[in-house]
Amino acid sequence: MKFYVEAYGCTLNQGETKMLAEKMVCQGHIEVDDPLEADTAVIGTCVVIKKTEERMKRRIQELKECCDDIIVTGCLATIGGKELKRAYPGLTLVDAGEVNMSFEPEHSLFGTVPISTGCVGTCTYCITKLARGCLRSHDKESIKRRFESLLQKGVKEVRITCQDTASYGLDIDTNLIDLMKELDSYSGEHRIRLGMMNPNTALPIKEELMECMNDSHFYRFLHLPLQSGSNGVLKRMKREYTVGQWMDLIREVKKSIPDITISTDVIPGFPGETKEDFKRTVSILEEVKPDIVNITRFSPRPGTKAMDMVDNIHSREKKRRSKILTDLHAENSKKKNDEFVGINTNILVLEKGKNDTMMGRMNNYKVVVIDDNRHDLLGDWVEVKITDASGVYLSGTIN
Ligand code: SF4
Repeated sequence: MKFYVEAYGCTLNQGETKMLAEKMVCQGHIEVDDPLEADTAVIGTCVVIKKTEERMKRRIQELKECCDDIIVTGCLATIGGKELKRAYPGLTLVDAGEVNMSFEPEHSLFGTVPISTGCVGTCTYCITKLARGCLRSHDKESIKRRFESLLQKGVKEVRITCQDTASYGLDIDTNLIDLMKELDSYSGEHRIRLGMMNPNTALPIKEELMECMNDSHFYRFLHLPLQSGSNGVLKRMKREYTVGQWMDLIREVKKSIPDITISTDVIPGFPGETKEDFKRTVSILEEVKPDIVNITRFSPRPGTKAMDMVDNIHSREKKRRSKILTDLHAENSKKKNDEFVGINTNILVLEKGKNDTMMGRMNNYKVVVIDDNRHDLLGDWVEVKITDASGVYLSGTIN
């Protein structure tokens, strides 16, 4: 059987969909790049905001028109499974988090290892919690076996992912630090990207986390959502940390690893967010200047507690606040990246860029585009001189 795969949403969702495809290849099925050539389409769905959910349903309809069978996995499979089955009786559902670990990856420079599904949080705006439920960590042996299988297939960037990496193992009497130490013990030129973690679960392990990140295979990169610069809004979001705790964590992380890349998330327009609350979010971003800021306007999701709150921020105002944060971040990230111009550094070349260029990552996960199109550089570390910077990436030449 020929099958076609599409995956959307977070790294976890994409990683699980990838593993599902790997298992189908192991069963002798053939993956094709065009749905028109496929008997079956596999789609890894995301429902984080309303617009995305609607887009998933449209895409399933489109794929149904060119493929006999559809396999739907990811959060829509769990959140909207009944409705999908009514619309497409023959459709196959694979619930979010129910894809078993695969140990037969394909040759690639990138690989993903889902380490758990579900989480320990109860954030009032979050529909993912409804899809993936409470924390279920994968056992360390299967995680290590997947990790090894990826390294054996030449993977150079391994993405460790779940909804909250810092909560890993809390349900199976182990923890992220133990796992990081074991994964770091594999020799090689590869790098490991640690996925998103919540400040409240990261705080208890912050010192060990910094130790594990220094001089290791882990990129010097941390993704720590803030969501709002107002404690009042964080309380109504049930985020279980304060702005002060997030700031302290960032401060200590930067003291321990000065060139670390910080990524964060903010949700402007949460119900009841006053102009004062929003100003606080702006001032926090002005002060901290995270390298990456993912901005998502609040969108009430069915079944969440925030759905029952009065969504009193007009969509125009949500747009205005989102634009202010986007412009602020663009200005800050350009200024920060300018500081790298003129340095010599090493990058891991990982993919083709546009216009005869190649792209790589520094040890702090910064993207560097080099004016060289030699494909034999893929997977190698090269020394480069940073010659220019934009708000999103650095440019360089090989020394
Ligand atoms: S936002 Fe909160 S509830 Fe949703 S997955 Fe993250 S920690 Fe869990």
